[in-house]
Amino acid sequence: MIISRLKEFKDILKAVKEQNIFIIGCGKCATKQHVGGEPEVLEMKKRLRGSGKNVVGWTILSSACIISSWDEVLSQNPEIEKAEALLVMSCGGGVSVLSANVKQLVYPALDTESLGGVCRDEVVKEQCGMCGECDIHLFGGLCPVSHCPKGMQNGPCGGSVEGKCEVDERKCVWDEIQKRLELLGRLEVLKDIHEPKDHSKRRCRE
Ligand code: SF4
Ligand code: SF4
Repeated sequence: MIISRLKEFKDILKAVKEQNIFIIGCGKCATKQHVGGEPEVLEMKKRLRGSGKNVVGWTILSSACIISSWDEVLSQNPEIEKAEALLVMSCGGGVSVLSANVKQLVYPALDTESLGGVCRDEVVKEQCGMCGECDIHLFGGLCPVSHCPKGMQNGPCGGSVEGKCEVDERKCVWDEIQKRLELLGRLEVLKDIHEPKDHSKRRCRE
């Protein structure tokens, strides 16, 4: 699941100069996180209208990042043709896919933060930083790229106090990694030195 949060409304208004807007929500991750499902799209429509914009229509795509046929979307939502701009309440993936298909300007209503998941109905954030070189098994299944604000690959930075990260409120992931590896009987892997990640691997390829 892609983790996103709603932008501040004033920032959306500042960016969207056009008058006639069509809003697109996403039925997958954005709906699950309550940032781009039907209630949020309707709230956005209300706020835009209250700010003097003309909302020509709205829809929730089953998945904003997977469009099998743009013609089909258009035939189901002909009001899109009347819009000068689309406001998309999905992750950046959905915004990019839609931008490649439409003739209007596409604005993101969300800020995409990280790759996460759902555990016992609760959304868990920052599970993967999409480094393109997964070695999470070496850290007991806890990814330091995504869980440590400094992305420390070879042990803790030294700033944690009683298991708490020095940067913010989270637990120090290295404290957790040590506990997990101990539980797994694999503490010896902590002696391995990890080379820096090959950042060329996270680039998009044709
Ligand atoms: S090691 Fe890389 S690919 Fe694997 S979970 Fe961490 S960021 Fe994601
Ligand atoms: S305290 Fe732990 S989690 Fe926080 S920055 Fe340092 S190593 Fe990373």
